Amino acid sequence: MQRSIVMKFGGTSMGDAAAIRQAAVIVWEALDEWQSISIVVSAMSGVTDMLLEGANTATTGQADRYCELTEQIRQQHITTATELLKTAKERGHVRAHIEERINEFLSLCHAIHVLKELTPRTLDAVLSLGEAMSVSLLAAHLQEIGCPAEGVHSGELIRTDSVFQSAYPDFETTRKLCQLRLGTLLQAGVVPVITGFIGATQDGTTTTLGRGGSDFSAAIIGAALEADEVWIWTDVDGVMSTDPRVVPTARTLETVSYREISELAYFGAKVLHPKTIRPVIERDITLWIRNTFNPQGPATQVVANNDQTTHSNGNIRAVTVIKNQCLITIEGRGMIGVQGIAGRAFNAVARTGTSVSLISQASSEQSICFTLPVSAVDDVINSAKNEFRVELERRDVDRIWALDNVVIVTAVGVGMRHTPGIAGRIFSALGESGINVIAIAQGSSEVSVSMVVGAADADESVRAIHRLIEKHP
Ligand code: ADP
Ligand code: ASP
Ligand code: MG
Repeated sequence: MQRSIVMKFGGTSMGDAAAIRQAAVIVWEALDEWQSISIVVSAMSGVTDMLLEGANTATTGQADRYCELTEQIRQQHITTATELLKTAKERGHVRAHIEERINEFLSLCHAIHVLKELTPRTLDAVLSLGEAMSVSLLAAHLQEIGCPAEGVHSGELIRTDSVFQSAYPDFETTRKLCQLRLGTLLQAGVVPVITGFIGATQDGTTTTLGRGGSDFSAAIIGAALEADEVWIWTDVDGVMSTDPRVVPTARTLETVSYREISELAYFGAKVLHPKTIRPVIERDITLWIRNTFNPQGPATQVVANNDQTTHSNGNIRAVTVIKNQCLITIEGRGMIGVQGIAGRAFNAVARTGTSVSLISQASSEQSICFTLPVSAVDDVINSAKNEFRVELERRDVDRIWALDNVVIVTAVGVGMRHTPGIAGRIFSALGESGINVIAIAQGSSEVSVSMVVGAADADESVRAIHRLIEKHP
């Protein structure tokens, strides 16, 4: 029998009673294989988005809308509990727990509505409620089918800093908390069913790890428990050559290297949260991505290095896209040779709390351009104009401007960058599809090439590059 595993079920895997039953079957079958199993779950699909909309509409004074959303979220969970749970005891217990969370949501929305203010801290309290409800559903169902299970709120396990919305764990404290709390359950043969996405600060205030962060939670808990494996159960057959929603002929990659998956996750492949990778690499934990609805089907193992194994080194293996970006350009002939322009530009961006997703600088040094999320554009332009006030007056810097509505399309594959002709093939493919490349950047990691294209060309760019993958698998 193998030793210890952490399994994470995503939103669609918790999407309704049938999906939760399927997840429970997977856990049940794993009991024969593994000495200790810990489960991490996401909120039911769509719930975090609804909680977010509720909080936002409360700030803008739309009380009707958040009341409507409250009812929708309530119905979704109560209906699922009713369909899923057989015994009156479990049903009653879970329903009461759901009603409490719903009341909490409503009280928070009322408070936001009255104060007309939504702080990141309050938003984390709101967003954490989805996972708190889904955990109780799976834990109760596991109990009913005879698998000893207990719901655990990860505020008790994952100690974080107080960067609300994107909290980072204190691994040492988290390790102690997990070993104590989960260790006791695991030794008693109980399967802990843990909320993904959530942590808490030292004083117990709820934080979240960022959207899609349940994958990260699984990695954090896997690391804390020194698990042998972490399995991410989702709604597609592992990591694929691209998003199968965009290209239905996308294929599963049987293995991806740490470097490839890092680039894919960073450049928008939603299938794995980018922060998941580091805790598992550092502790040599085996990471799999599998399909809850096709458990015996193709899956992806993340490996340290696959340069020489399953595919020819140097080919494009996958293509991905980040949407809702803008391209900021700082340009001026007087910039040539002026020291520190790039440093000052990025400091100006950093002061707004924004991360740059891609940087491209022409060798002539007459311009620097970089992309960032559209939502940050005004703040960043103002901050940059402020930073270069003197240079703008002197006309050393002519213009600081933004092109909205762009996306970043990234082709990923180990060794690709050093393969002659790859960039040419990508540009020809895009050119043949009539797509104009606005900017290009190559990651220093040698495994990716990114292009900035107009938002309207996003899907067609992905298809055009994917055709190259199909031609040269
Ligand atoms: P979960 O709710 O299980 O966390 P997500 O919706 O966060 O699932 O991620 C899974 C989704 O990621 C898939 O349904 C798919 O549309 C999308 N996706 C994007 N790029 C890829 C890719 N390269 N391989 C697989 N899925 C991808
Ligand atoms: N429920 C959270 C979200 O939708 C976390 C997750 O699903 O990973 O972002
Ligand atoms: Mg996800």
